[in-house]
Amino acid sequence: MAILNKDIKFIAVYGRVSTSTQEEEQTIRSQMDAIREFAKKNGYEIVQIYEDEGYSGDVLERPALDQLRLDAKNKMWDAVLFYDPDRLARRYYYQELVMDELRSLGIESLFVTIPPAKNEEDVLMYGIRGVFSQYERKKISERFRMGKLRKAREGHIIGTEAPYGLTYVHKTKDEQGYNKINDAEIDNLRLIFKLADDGYTIRGIIKKLQELGIPPRKSKRGVWNTSTLITLLRNRAYVGKSHFGASYAVEPVNPIKKCKYKKIKKTSRKFHPEDKWIIIPTPKVINEDLFDRVQEKLKVNKLNADRSTKYEYLLSKKIHCFCGCTRSGAGPQKGKNLYYRCNDRIYKFPLPATCEEGGMNAKVADKLVWREIEKLITSPEVMRWHIERWKNGRPAKIKAPLVNVESLKKEINKLTKEADRYTQLFGAGLLDIDSYKKHTDPVNDKVKLLNEQIQKANQEPQIPDDVFLPSDEGIEMLAKDSAELVKDLSFVRKQAIVRGIVDRAVGNKQMIQVSGFIPVPISYGRIPFSVDAFKPSPFLLDNVNFCAKYRNCRITKRREINAV
Ligand SMILES: [Zn+2]
Repeated sequence: MAILNKDIKFIAVYGRVSTSTQEEEQTIRSQMDAIREFAKKNGYEIVQIYEDEGYSGDVLERPALDQLRLDAKNKMWDAVLFYDPDRLARRYYYQELVMDELRSLGIESLFVTIPPAKNEEDVLMYGIRGVFSQYERKKISERFRMGKLRKAREGHIIGTEAPYGLTYVHKTKDEQGYNKINDAEIDNLRLIFKLADDGYTIRGIIKKLQELGIPPRKSKRGVWNTSTLITLLRNRAYVGKSHFGASYAVEPVNPIKKCKYKKIKKTSRKFHPEDKWIIIPTPKVINEDLFDRVQEKLKVNKLNADRSTKYEYLLSKKIHCFCGCTRSGAGPQKGKNLYYRCNDRIYKFPLPATCEEGGMNAKVADKLVWREIEKLITSPEVMRWHIERWKNGRPAKIKAPLVNVESLKKEINKLTKEADRYTQLFGAGLLDIDSYKKHTDPVNDKVKLLNEQIQKANQEPQIPDDVFLPSDEGIEMLAKDSAELVKDLSFVRKQAIVRGIVDRAVGNKQMIQVSGFIPVPISYGRIPFSVDAFKPSPFLLDNVNFCAKYRNCRITKRREINAV
């Protein structure tokens, strides 16, 4: 925070709530009401409102906040008003970071709960307050955690969502909350345990539940997930031992979803050793012997399912089906062969699969693709052919002019809109002529300048982009090196080569389309290749059966190139 020393007229407003529950909805509304009132009292005009819903204050990457920081560069407003520094970010360090950035653009940060600094002392107090409130928050969350821990140690249920088959009865003035039997679910729960005891696999149980029309309590697709069912079968609350503190939140090492904005950081969980769990006695609904037998069976299932190193699939992670799904190595099915099977059936399970493509014989597919790869990297002719094709096939690229006309036009558009906003304010009598001119003159000057730039860019001759490609000698050398390299390769090294060169392989029983990038030195850029490996005989990719319906099929568009 710095000392406020400018006139503020136009402001942006920022609000954040960490969850999207109803109470929080109330919070954001009262936050916004307080902000509006504050703005009115001080004679500020709100030009723009930014809101992030469901984002933790520990995360700085939030869509609305990012937009605000981008817009700040256009200086559409003089200040940003927050309800509280907390709404900006939880950490004092983050708050300062954003405020600093805004300040460097000449934009002030204002808070409803803290008056703007009038002198150095205020600035210092703000810093101290920031550090203190960080400490306070830590203390509050610690107190909250200790409260829960104490409650659990006293044998009370924590949380209000009871496991399947049970219902949580909320606490009253005289009584703590507790779990009771859920009459609608309890028979289903017992059935699930019985099926597991009878030797049904997890997927078998799911199929059975689907047949019987028994849905899980909550699910987007209305069908059971394998992980939900495993967690259920392992839950000791059913034998009277609910637990608390078994796991804790951590940041995921390999996040499943890679998206730009994450609402919270710690989305993964880790387990404490079992002797650290706090056991809370609850009513028994499953017989202990039955429960133990099921645990044994789950362990055996897990051992059987451990197929990580049993078979070698050269194309794993790269091979797709023409329906768009990935394929993966499925282990020997009813015969001796390994197959790449379409994963559609797994995604749809327990609902019926929609893809009709069969499995591809993995050994044959691997051999076919490897042969193409070997040809590509060891034969100078083949490599040259692909390079030529890429050179001739791609649209004649024109070297981009030094200025990007499109982005200039966008900028002009933005500025014109900004000027319009001031004109509207002026028209509504909210702005006198002097401040109107003060705001719009620089904008109009900028627009003029940009228009001149566009004019100049359009006059400049456009230079064709010369392609920088490997020389004939370079290609010869690469091919010679590769020929040496591919002699006597282990599976692991072959796989490394495939993973490095192949971007995607798409196939069915009759053919595989392989596309990727030629392994030339990086300075040449990425030169794509694409080959179609057709079965030489009906039985090459598939030794189960051969259907002629695919014979003349040319399916899906490839990415960069059209086949010959
Ligand atoms: Zn498929």
